[in-house]
Amino acid sequence: MAECQETMLVPIGKVDPMVITWLKEDLPKILSIPVTKSPPLPLNPRHFFKERNQYLADGLLADLTTIIHDGNTLSLGITGADIYTAGLNFVFGIATTGSALISTFRLRPETYGMSPNPGLYRWRILTEAVHELGHAIGLPHCEYPGCVMFFSNSITDTDRKGPEFCFRCRRRIEWMGKLREG
Ligand SMILES: [Zn+2]
Ligand SMILES: [Zn+2]
Repeated sequence: MAECQETMLVPIGKVDPMVITWLKEDLPKILSIPVTKSPPLPLNPRHFFKERNQYLADGLLADLTTIIHDGNTLSLGITGADIYTAGLNFVFGIATTGSALISTFRLRPETYGMSPNPGLYRWRILTEAVHELGHAIGLPHCEYPGCVMFFSNSITDTDRKGPEFCFRCRRRIEWMGKLREG
């Protein structure tokens, strides 16, 4: 994969426009590449599993990879639907080379019976977006619990790590040369 020139946000189904605004503002502070937005993709009912009341993350990610036309664009799909993948009850997101997907469903404080908290919600969205984009450029999980690339088994892990890369992951990104330094 060549050096990435931009991150393209792709709403999948109905997504709160505020979420897109937040990501446009927050992502460049961490990843130093411009953020653009594409028209939404439909939430394809073919990926819905009624008995789980969830969408298969891999299906949504595959839909996303069909609209990307060049190797210089990182795409980030955003859905409000609850998503899962084989072997896991749910995922906050998944990624493949060049493409990432996050779900806001389990990032909302209301999902855990808490009061709405836009600041916390925004922080979690940024954290999961950076994590999956990190995978999309080739980063593996990191064992340091304060690093964004730490695996989140629950929302507690997400809240602990936050959106910043540790120095080792940051250095790995520099070695890979996949992000233009801003
Ligand atoms: Zn991960
Ligand atoms: Zn790290």
